Formats: sequence, C-alpha cells, structure tokens
Amino acid sequence: MEIFSSIEHARCARLELRKRGSTLALVPTMGYLHEGHLSLVRKAQSLADATWVSIFVNPTQFGPNEDLNRYPRDLDRDFELLQIEGVDAVFVPSAEEMYAKKPIIEVAFSGLENMLCGASRPVHFGGVGIVVTKLFNIIEPDVAVFGQKDAQQALLIRRLVDDLSFAIRIEVAPTVREADGLALSSRNVNLTDEERRAAPAIHRALIEGQRTINTGENNPDRVLEVMRKIIGREELLRLDYAVCVSADDLSTPKKITGPVLLAIAVNTSATRLIDNIIVELGSPISGRR
Ligand code: AMP
Repeated sequence: MEIFSSIEHARCARLELRKRGSTLALVPTMGYLHEGHLSLVRKAQSLADATWVSIFVNPTQFGPNEDLNRYPRDLDRDFELLQIEGVDAVFVPSAEEMYAKKPIIEVAFSGLENMLCGASRPVHFGGVGIVVTKLFNIIEPDVAVFGQKDAQQALLIRRLVDDLSFAIRIEVAPTVREADGLALSSRNVNLTDEERRAAPAIHRALIEGQRTINTGENNPDRVLEVMRKIIGREELLRLDYAVCVSADDLSTPKKITGPVLLAIAVNTSATRLIDNIIVELGSPISGRR
C-alpha cells in the first residue's frame, strides 16, 4: 500500500494509473477508521480497479469552538486496517500541504449549508465543499464513495458534482451501526460510559418516527413529536435538531407524500452525534395521496 503526503506524489501516481487504463475509486475520510469507513472501502473496491482512501482532518470545516483538536487520530492503526483491506494507496496530506494559502474561494449551497447541521455549524459545509473539491481535483477519481450517515453532506456533494460538472460518480453507502443501533462514528470514543448507554436512543427515535409514518401518519410535526419525546427521556442527550424533511432538497413538507429524511443531532458533554434514516413511503400512505 502506497502512502502519499504530497499532492505532487498523489498526482504522479494517479497519472500512472491512468496510463495503465485503471479506474480509481476514492473514499474521503478524516481517519480514526471504523467498520463504517471500511464498508465504504469495500464498496469502492467493487466499483473500480484501484481504491484510494484519503485521511485528512480538514480544519476549514470546523468552527472555532468545535472539536478539531479533540478529534481522535491514530494513523498507524488506520494504515494497518487499510492494508488488511487491500487498499492501493492512502493520501494523507498535512494542513499546510492542502492549504498553502488560505482559500479565498467560498463554496455555498444556496442556503442548504445553513440547514440541519449547518445551523449550529455555520462554516462546516463550506469547508466540506472546499476540501472535497480539492480532493477531487488532486486525485481525479472515477467514483467517490460517501456514507449515508452524513446525509446532508452526501446530498450537497451530489449537487457540487452536478453543478460544477465533475466527471465523478458519487456513490452513497448505508450506515453501519453497533448492535444496539448507535451509528458508528470516530467521535463515539469521546462519549462517557453513561453517554454511550444513552446514545442508542437516537436510533430508537428514528425507528419510532419511521414506524409512525408507516402506520399512516402524514403530519411531519406529529412524527417529530414522537422522535423528540424519545430523546427527551435521556438527560445526557441535548437535542440540537430533529427534522422530517424532503430527502431530495431538505425542504419541510406540509404533508408527508414522498420519501423523507428523518435526521437527529444531539450534543453530549463534549461530543456531537448525528444519525438519520430515509423513509420511503409504504403503501398505506401512498394509497392516500
Ligand atoms: P468521516 O471520517 O467521519 O469524515 O467519514 C468519512 C466517510 O465515512 C463519510 O462519507 C461518512 O459519511 C462515512 N461514514 C462515517 N460513519 C459511517 C457509518 N457509521 N456508516 C457508514 N459510513 C460512515
């Protein structure tokens, strides 16, 4: 497995692949890898001849009071896991390598970047837009794989690629969870034992929201009530948001008539957790349209 920390080396290796006629899949990550990341790697391997993973804790997507410095890191372990998976190369640039100059370009998404996670993380999606654009321009993958776990990110990256005509196919892979439903996240190691015990309530709330829709409820407010109540029982989870929005454009429907994204974000003492599910309407509701 090759490891590149310089943009130039990554570009040269990419050129070599192209000369050999090999296709390339990229899995962008911030490291401290878990089974969720590895599931994306396996999907990537099924989609192209070569698979690269990038590991970069991107400072521009963290606000001043967020957990950039506390974000867990263990590169040696990450390299070991990726080697076992048979990844071809890892791109692991420093912040200086990626941002020799502070970018003056800004990426915005017509306000979608200020919804959901963006409401409490105002610089987040602008930073994601910049770093993903840079990674795409440096590595020029044929396909890039992202996780449904970060639903808003996946939606905005699809728009970035469409709007700016990147010749890159975007694939979104399902969320990998612990047995008790908690979505795997690098940040889970920062939970206290008590918070870890409370955290599966997030998934329970999503499932209960889904059940409520599938039993015929089409008023998003009532679905949210059910979800909020479940989170509200957990003292250690402070709800940031619970939403029931269109899975296509994050707009809030008056009535649920198409696929909706149920999404939740909570804060614990020092850790932010997010999760979501997409509810495709079952027959009872579509029959009532
Ligand atoms: P991160 O390292 O947290 O930036 O995540 C890198 C990629 O892995 C993103 O596309 C995430 O959506 C994805 N990812 C993170 N957690 C999970 C999970 N539990 N299941 C599937 N994909 C995930």
